Amino acid sequence: MNLSKEEIIHLLTKEDGNSLFEKANKVREESVGNSVHLRALIEFSNICKNNCLYCGLRKDNLEIKRYRLTKDDILNDVKKAVDLGFKTIVLQSGEDMYFNQKRICEIIEAIKKYDVALTLSIGERTYQEYKAFKNAGADRYLIRIETTNKDLYHSLDPDMSWDNRYKCLLNLRELGYELGSGIMVGLPNQTIESIADDLLFLKHINVDMAGIGPFIPHPKTPLANKKGGTLDLSLRTMAIMRLLLEDINIPATTAMEALHPEGQIKALESGANVIMPNMTNHGYRKLYDLYPNKENTIKPLDLLSQKLQSINRTISKDYGFRKKLIY
Ligand code: SAM
Ligand code: SF4
Repeated sequence: MNLSKEEIIHLLTKEDGNSLFEKANKVREESVGNSVHLRALIEFSNICKNNCLYCGLRKDNLEIKRYRLTKDDILNDVKKAVDLGFKTIVLQSGEDMYFNQKRICEIIEAIKKYDVALTLSIGERTYQEYKAFKNAGADRYLIRIETTNKDLYHSLDPDMSWDNRYKCLLNLRELGYELGSGIMVGLPNQTIESIADDLLFLKHINVDMAGIGPFIPHPKTPLANKKGGTLDLSLRTMAIMRLLLEDINIPATTAMEALHPEGQIKALESGANVIMPNMTNHGYRKLYDLYPNKENTIKPLDLLSQKLQSINRTISKDYGFRKKLIY
């Protein structure tokens, strides 16, 4: 569906929330059906060379205990996920350069011996690295643009370049990855107009997956005292994304669950069709401390399955690639 910037702003601010969520839920049902794709998330390193002001993993946060999983640790988590029936593995980390091209390729090749699709979310790398990861077997890449307001981006991500992040998205697209991107909602100084621009940007680049979640202030970052994003505005943004790109994959993000105990279920009823349960070894989960309350969002799978049943949704048995309807 095409929507103008003015129409998006109206939906973000004036439209009755429930009617927007119902509309997005209907579009979701008609375009991607009732099954929910589960992606096993493995957070394999919390070491990061960057200093994003919002993130608990930023390098200047000296109060966090850092960890890095070995290849064997990662494969143990993968095996656990495969045994539980997961068809997608998502490897996520800070920008940890110990994991160079060779090491990442070795891990990809080992994971692809299992019958799974593989998503990487390890930040900005060179074209050559992305190419090597693709050749080693990676299927998808997830890198949020965070915001399309360049001034806002540069104020929040010192020493990083919005143009470079955008170039990463273009490179990944050219290399044939399924492309995931997204934004945070409620960043300090982010306007409604800017969120409308973000949504139009994600439509324009035709993302295959859009991750949209509230910004949640972390107490050990420079944004500790800022207001975070609300669940309502995050759900509205996500629901509009579903209207703009009917057939893409949209996760019910963990940050929504961190704000409200039913945040992910609300998201699934407002346009989302993906959940990313955390399969990282228990000992490390709490150290991947992006924002407060994240640990409490990790629910046992049987509880998740019961909740899905209660809203008439089933667990998908396929790899969960985007099935393009119109593009
Ligand atoms: N380091 C990689 C990167 O930045 O693309 C991947 C991992 S990073 C932790 C994943 C995402 O977490 C970021 O893209 C950002 O949107 C989100 N994030 C970080 N801090 C957050 C916060 N305080 N509240 C909500 N989301 C946050
Ligand atoms: Fe590092 Fe990603 Fe956190 Fe930025 S958002 S500090 S790149 S882990």
